[in-house]
Amino acid sequence: MKYQIEAKPYGSYDVVVCGGGTAGCFAAIAAAREGAKTLLIERSFTVGGMLTVGEAGITKFSEHCRDVDVYKNEVLDELAKAPAKVQVVRGLAHEYVKRMIDGGTALGTHGEPGSYVFTDKAEAQWGLMQMLKEAGVEVLYDTRAVLVNKKEDTVTGVVVCNKEGFCEIGARVVIDATGDADVAALAGVPFYAGATEEEASAGFAAFAGEMQHFGTMYRVRNLDFARLFDYLKKNPDRFVEHEFGVMSLENVIESYNRGEMCVFRIDLKDWSPVRGSYHVQVYNLPEKDEAILLGPGCGTGKDNSNGLDARILSNAQYTLQKGAYRLTEVLRECVPGFETVRVTYIPDVGVRETRHIAGEYRLTVIDVLSGKDFEDSIACGGHPIDIHPLPKEVEHVDLNHWRFHIPYRVMLPLNVENLLVAGRPISAERGASGATRPTAQCMALGEAAGVAAAMAVKENKTPKTIDMQELRARLVENGAIV
Ligand SMILES: Cc1cc2nc3c(=O)[nH]c(=O)nc-3n(C[C@H](O)[C@H](O)[C@H](O)COP(=O)(O)OP(=O)(O)OC[C@H]3O[C@@H](n4cnc5c(N)ncnc54)[C@H](O)[C@@H]3O)c2cc1C
Repeated sequence: MKYQIEAKPYGSYDVVVCGGGTAGCFAAIAAAREGAKTLLIERSFTVGGMLTVGEAGITKFSEHCRDVDVYKNEVLDELAKAPAKVQVVRGLAHEYVKRMIDGGTALGTHGEPGSYVFTDKAEAQWGLMQMLKEAGVEVLYDTRAVLVNKKEDTVTGVVVCNKEGFCEIGARVVIDATGDADVAALAGVPFYAGATEEEASAGFAAFAGEMQHFGTMYRVRNLDFARLFDYLKKNPDRFVEHEFGVMSLENVIESYNRGEMCVFRIDLKDWSPVRGSYHVQVYNLPEKDEAILLGPGCGTGKDNSNGLDARILSNAQYTLQKGAYRLTEVLRECVPGFETVRVTYIPDVGVRETRHIAGEYRLTVIDVLSGKDFEDSIACGGHPIDIHPLPKEVEHVDLNHWRFHIPYRVMLPLNVENLLVAGRPISAERGASGATRPTAQCMALGEAAGVAAAMAVKENKTPKTIDMQELRARLVENGAIV
């Protein structure tokens, strides 16, 4: 069925950012701070996306080491003395998170954003909103990008849908920060939906087209951490180090008592609410009795993993909620400290992977693992590759003081002009994307996209024709690590 729609004009902007989530907020703030007239459109009524609504931890501002002692002594403790030595993300992301840590509404390490940062959700949204307003960004909520206007290969604006019906918005540059590359797909940018054939045969996916499973980081109250730590000390086989947070039980207790972030896992073994063993991940929050728990995921298998299918997403939301309540019951019954916990918030379905755009450069897993530097590097990362399955050869690569670089070209889509794609769906192999999709990296990508878009507008160029060295210089001037 074909329909004809009429869209009323809403106005024209230098930069229109579609999606007010993790990358989008920082893209908009950066563009507006550079002087561009900037509009941020967001389909919900809250900014932050997975960073706030999804309750994700904010990871990773520092290098990574696999060894618990090396990580603690040479990275986390170093943050207090000479943070610049071990940090991989600064700029706007650091400014935002630091503001919250200093205000007591987020937890870091020695006062710095380190590996994980966990926030008070309301404050995290409010903090973003304040930065957006201070920068002069116009925010349009309850508005979804549904069509793209193009003149030949050049994007000239978007059509959105909201309470007013369809509206047409003109833009000199559009930034797609929808997490799913919705705008890029509408504009005709080629993309890979989930894993490719080659990635599946190399062991990075169970089948071609596979997308990572859905998840939920849900919130509980009334957790008696002191009682839980006592139990874990007496039952060390129940304690499991978090593979990215890398903290021993001793480090966890020290950090918790200092009022800093801590992350760990509890092995539920025979109490598992799902088939097989289950390690529940626990993250603390600024309120001493509050925690975020990673609930049982869902959406594996050929018929259930497509995060672009409305029915699958809706079913996943229900399954994740059910899993969270079931897990909480098991914890209440079996694990000391959890006896009176209450579920206080379950986020919208957490989507880890959908489209990966085809861009001017495709970041490879080898680039990431080898820490390859690029002439047009505009952001760094330190997060290990977070995909399952992970081929054995990759799993065991030594990560010591590890950092990687992200080139600007991964945000430049093939075949289409005046469009940048920031955040989760950048042009990266599935394995590489497992390290670039964490929040801190998405925030840094957003900042780079915003500055690039504003430069293109100011210089009457396109994102593909601006001088990449000038972009890098401007980012460094603004405090970013490239
Ligand atoms: C369960 C789970 C746990 C995670 N845990 C961590 C963690 O601990 N640490 C970490 O660093 N990372 C974590 N991540 C990964 C990380 O949160 C995301 O990869 C990252 O936040 C994605 O950022 P983004 O800006 O690309 O997308 P999002 O933050 O999802 O933002 C996309 C925004 O676009 C809006 N939008 C979507 N479509 C449209 C449209 N068509 N028009 C207008 N608006 C639209 C959405 O409402 C949303 O606000 C986790 C992810 C999941 C799923």
